[in-house]
Amino acid sequence: MRLLVTGGAGYVGGHTVRVLLDAGHDVTVYDNLAYGHRESVPCKLEIGELDDRAALDELFRRGRFDAVLHFAAYAYVGESVTEPSKYWRNNVAAGLELLDAMRKHGVERLVFSSTCAVYGPPTRVPIDEDERKAPESPYGESKLTFERVLASYATAYGLRSMSLRYFNAAGARPDGSLGEDHEPETHLIPLVLRAAAGRGDNIRVFGTDYPTPDGTCIRDYVHVDDLASAHVLALDALDQPGAQALNLGTGKGYSVREIIDACRMVTKRPIQVVEGERRAGDPPALYADNRRARETLGWQPRYTDAESIVRTAWAWHAKQWGLQPGT
Ligand code: UDP
Repeated sequence: MRLLVTGGAGYVGGHTVRVLLDAGHDVTVYDNLAYGHRESVPCKLEIGELDDRAALDELFRRGRFDAVLHFAAYAYVGESVTEPSKYWRNNVAAGLELLDAMRKHGVERLVFSSTCAVYGPPTRVPIDEDERKAPESPYGESKLTFERVLASYATAYGLRSMSLRYFNAAGARPDGSLGEDHEPETHLIPLVLRAAAGRGDNIRVFGTDYPTPDGTCIRDYVHVDDLASAHVLALDALDQPGAQALNLGTGKGYSVREIIDACRMVTKRPIQVVEGERRAGDPPALYADNRRARETLGWQPRYTDAESIVRTAWAWHAKQWGLQPGT
């Protein structure tokens, strides 16, 4: 298929581009490079803004795309609280320009990068897709709003879409060619690995008094290549009209302490921990009921334990930092 990937220079987008290319698709990336990296795009790259309707029209006219994978978005939960305008404009309003360009040019298929942040604090775990939606940040609200836009576009215009709600994306290409490179970095695994490499502060555990077995928060870490392969499968599942949404997680939760232990095992380095206060808005435990994704897509995550995910992340980071992964 001829595919347009918005945000394809980013973390999940970039990994997905590689899996799409491996599957034989013709891929064009559209990215403003605000957070993405030019050197991580291994295919055609068009640099532009998502709200630039003229640029989008030209792109669609030339590209004759069969489908779009839409990753371009801002994704810092904390920043979305202090700068909501940025999130509503980019994650919703600019996304509408994309949808309307698709409509104008007769492109009916979309895979949308969504998030488990659409749920907010869950009423039960594991979380299934019918869980109530009570996002706690403008980031989660913006993703949920866009999912609702997709539902209304399905009804009115026949758009076929699949929203993939990621749990905690983690890990890197096992060949070390691409990994998680956020600036600023806020995510647990890269921060722990920085601490292990002596390149960052000691790792601060946000809360040790949660009602979990070891007192720290439990999350569902899912390998970025498993997310990527779900997008490829989702493209094939868009033969049905309508707007669907699927959870992408392994179904297994790890506590913050368990992740730090996995990083100690993999890096064989000491990691100093500081016990800190809870971070606002962090529910004690979030992990996915992923049955719907497995049934709908035939998806099966290949990385099911924290250590194997961390191993790929460490191999990539160690390479960036000029270290031997085994030392
Ligand atoms: N976390 C932590 N210290 C850090 C960063 C994260 O204890 O420096 C915890 C955080 O409270 C959460 C888990 O690690 O329970 C995963 O956080 P992350 O920011 O990676 O992803 P999120 O779950 O917020 O999307």
